[in-house]
Amino acid sequence: MTDTPDLSEFYSAVRRVGPICTIRKLLGRLPPDRAASLQAALAAPRDDIPHTAVSAVVKGWGESLSEFTVSRHRMGQCSCPRT
Ligand SMILES: [Zn+2]
Repeated sequence: MTDTPDLSEFYSAVRRVGPICTIRKLLGRLPPDRAASLQAALAAPRDDIPHTAVSAVVKGWGESLSEFTVSRHRMGQCSCPRT
């Protein structure tokens, strides 16, 4: 099953349009356990873990992340490729 089309050309075109999403950069930089919990928190219902809570926890890790960035990423309005 290796007939998945190569979309890297499209993804790189997407990234050229806007700045790389802060969350995407964070996920690449954080230790794997923190990256995994951040991803799980982002996937959790907003009523359970609001944008402000995600932002507060990440700030506690010594990174900067605004709730607006969290919101944009969760709503798919950032530059992350959606698959
Ligand atoms: Zn994003």
